Amino acid sequence: MDDYIAIATLNDYIFCPYSIYLHNVYMDTDEGMYKATPQIKGTLVHEGVDHKTSSTKKTDIFSIHVYSDTLGVSGKIDVYKTDKKQLIERKNNLKQIFRGQIYQLWAQYYCMIEMGYEVKSICFYEISTHKTIHVPIPSEKDRTELVLFINKFRNYKPSEDVITVNPNKCSHCIYCNLCDKTDFNNVYT
Ligand code: SF4
Repeated sequence: MDDYIAIATLNDYIFCPYSIYLHNVYMDTDEGMYKATPQIKGTLVHEGVDHKTSSTKKTDIFSIHVYSDTLGVSGKIDVYKTDKKQLIERKNNLKQIFRGQIYQLWAQYYCMIEMGYEVKSICFYEISTHKTIHVPIPSEKDRTELVLFINKFRNYKPSEDVITVNPNKCSHCIYCNLCDKTDFNNVYT
């Protein structure tokens, strides 16, 4: 399963493909070197789920490792409500839902279906507002879009692809301070 793409990186790839390369380079280093406040908060949210402190309902199951052989992706889901057959991805803040976050949810959905779970609905849960944002179950057309995206991700070559440096975007990138494409710091330092 080594060459499976981590579902958690799908959104990062859309933000900047080069950040995936940097993530792989720095993944074994101290997280404090590059993790910025939003990411640390995000990690804490997922740790809450991992340690099963976010709900006490017996019908809720947490942090299931999931994978899909057909898509070549793997990762963890946050919460699966067995009574509602509902898959939930928790986020601290969701002012805007990015396409990459939808791809993450779709990928989790397909993993669960392939592993034999029944999933009737999928949604995001915004912790700061306690709001549930429902997302339609992906259609065949959506799956094709996801497959094309994953193929593009898989074939990405940092040495060949042109990296567009956008100061506004880069200054909000957690890898900014370590990125050889920029010479400024991110806004989190
Ligand atoms: S600093 Fe900019 S170019 Fe470098 S990884 Fe981040 S977004 Fe990409």
